[in-house]
Amino acid sequence: MRVVIDTDACSGHGRCYDLAPVLFTDDERGYGQIVGDGSFTDDQRAAADKAVQACPERAITIVD
Ligand code: SF4
Repeated sequence: MRVVIDTDACSGHGRCYDLAPVLFTDDERGYGQIVGDGSFTDDQRAAADKAVQACPERAITIVD
């Protein structure tokens, strides 16, 4: 499983990298970026779900 960001939808609120810095970081303009390829472990699933739910733009999805 991995997280992906719809970069067209992202508005740079920063909640993803505030809540789940192991999975997300920011670019120079404060827009969310995936760390690595976005893959996460079972232990990180809660953090991924939290970011999905917290994104005001619904820009984050979890894919297989
Ligand atoms: S929380 Fe959503 S809108 Fe905000 S930076 Fe992350 S992906 Fe972008």
